[in-house]
Amino acid sequence: MKITKVEAFPVPPRWVFCKVETDQGITGWGEPSLEGHAATQVAAVAELARVLVGEDPLRIEHLWQGMYRWGFYRGGPVLMSALSGVDHALWDIFGKSVGLPVHQLLGGACRDKVRVYGGCGGSEPAQLRESAQACVAAGFTAMKFCPVDATEIVDGFDVIKKVEARMAAAREGAGDADVALDFHGRISPPMAIALADALRPYHPFFIEEPVQCENVDALVRVARSTPIPIATGERLYGTHGFREVIEKDAASILQPDLSHAGGITEVRKIAAMANTHYMAIAPHCPLGPVSLAACIQFALCTPNFLIQEHGYLGQGYLKNPFTVTDGYLSIPTAPGLGIEVDEEAVRAMPWQDWDTPRLSQTDGSVADW
Ligand SMILES: [Mg+2]
Repeated sequence: MKITKVEAFPVPPRWVFCKVETDQGITGWGEPSLEGHAATQVAAVAELARVLVGEDPLRIEHLWQGMYRWGFYRGGPVLMSALSGVDHALWDIFGKSVGLPVHQLLGGACRDKVRVYGGCGGSEPAQLRESAQACVAAGFTAMKFCPVDATEIVDGFDVIKKVEARMAAAREGAGDADVALDFHGRISPPMAIALADALRPYHPFFIEEPVQCENVDALVRVARSTPIPIATGERLYGTHGFREVIEKDAASILQPDLSHAGGITEVRKIAAMANTHYMAIAPHCPLGPVSLAACIQFALCTPNFLIQEHGYLGQGYLKNPFTVTDGYLSIPTAPGLGIEVDEEAVRAMPWQDWDTPRLSQTDGSVADW
């Protein structure tokens, strides 16, 4: 079998899908999304086609190495997201070519169900309480929200009070369900430590990106200051990107994104590295349904998988969208990634460029979103 064509195109609201075609009529789908950079990803995938066209799609590791290393420049969100999407498509082709779901090719299912968390939200405590109650009513046993606004490097008591009030309301609405918090990399180490201390009585499931992950020692400082499990990884790429976090035990939960960190091939390796430090994997996925499909295949066959994030279940994009029942995702049984992209519908969707929201401090200076 030979790869004949590699194509990527933007898909609303802010995704990119890629399609890899072969001379045997088997087609693979992947999602090289990088939010806010759709045109860049379409171009990056077109450049990867140089390595792919004419090659055997079943030599996944070899093609992965070629895409990663033959371009001289490697790593980073743009190149790794493009590579990730192609990697999904190659696994999809492999599965379809032998009539098996991807997880069967990676050792088979090591769990029966894939736990997924919901999202609650609101800036006012009353909204959060209601939203958390709605999550529980929808069957979720875990949920996540971002309790922090733009915050100065050192900020006042009013900020701590506001964040604590939000968490208290979410806990009230959630009852005994798990409530995770995403600080979105907005917070400095001293404020993250102060906030974690204030939130401790509400037993958050974990705190995600309490600080940016570019300075691992800063993350270590936060992690050592609190018994609340720390999660990070949506902005780390490849095994090399995760190495220092793992070696320094800077987090308890790693959140590689299957569309950014190197696809199924690389995230399996990251999970194995993490497992030697007893770290759990909770893949980041606020993206589209092709990315979620890759996550589900990964979750089924990876021992230290913990819980899955989700944004979209695929209605309107897939002919067989996912469902959530009692806090668990439906498991596809079809070969490959187990999905059928509604190509006609997806290609007909009008594309509108999506830009990342811009956050500022109260004095007008730039803040992290
Ligand atoms: Mg996050």
